[in-house]
Amino acid sequence: MLTSINHIGIAVKDLEASIELFKKIFQFADVHREVVEEQGVSIASFKVGDVLIELTQPTRDDSPIAKFIEKKGEGIHHIAFNTDNINSDLARLKETGIQLINEEPRPGAHDMLIAFLHPKSTNGVLTEICQHK
Ligand code: ZN
Repeated sequence: MLTSINHIGIAVKDLEASIELFKKIFQFADVHREVVEEQGVSIASFKVGDVLIELTQPTRDDSPIAKFIEKKGEGIHHIAFNTDNINSDLARLKETGIQLINEEPRPGAHDMLIAFLHPKSTNGVLTEICQHK
């Protein structure tokens, strides 16, 4: 079951510049940094209430984030929802005809298992579901 919003992913070209920009807006002190090789991204995230804002910069030209920025520019890339059981949610969504990008969970940031649903199936919103390992 999807229980709450975990994070909002924002695609950025320049991570350091974006951190400075968002610091002015949200006045956070702590930034969590992580490189997820699997996704070809470098991430900086900070909390707003219970939700993480995840600034995401591509680390290579063939990363999905690089392609997204090339096509659409910087901006909201995806919304991620917590699930209490990623495997059963993936099976359930597949059964209801939702197109999955990842049929199996993959490793994501913050030591989570993640999977993406195709935006064609979700009114254009790239949707991620995630569960702590
Ligand atoms: Zn994400």
